[in-house]
Amino acid sequence: MSVGEGIITVGERELILRQLEARTFPLAGKRHGHKQGKSLLTGIARCGLCGARMGKAGTSYQCSSHRMGRGCSGVPARVESIDDYVTRAFLSRLPSPTGSPDGFATGSRG
Ligand SMILES: [Zn+2]
Repeated sequence: MSVGEGIITVGERELILRQLEARTFPLAGKRHGHKQGKSLLTGIARCGLCGARMGKAGTSYQCSSHRMGRGCSGVPARVESIDDYVTRAFLSRLPSPTGSPDGFATGSRG
């Protein structure tokens, strides 16, 4: 096991891995035990046009008004891309454990 100088120590690495683990979505899978597939935003995302909730329809989120034929044009959005976007936005808002956005290699030390 070799860890170069100026890089993180094994202990720090452990810590960082735990931080990353803790960052995975606390929201997912906690909604009353409903089986919802793996979409994060069902019942949370809102239609940008009419404000109705978005539901998952196949591989997309879709406006519930649209699905019920209430005249909204819907604007389906791919589950993957939206979930990815939201995950990134969510993670980027968390305070960095090191206080440095560039990560862990801090160059010279001591
Ligand atoms: Zn709508």
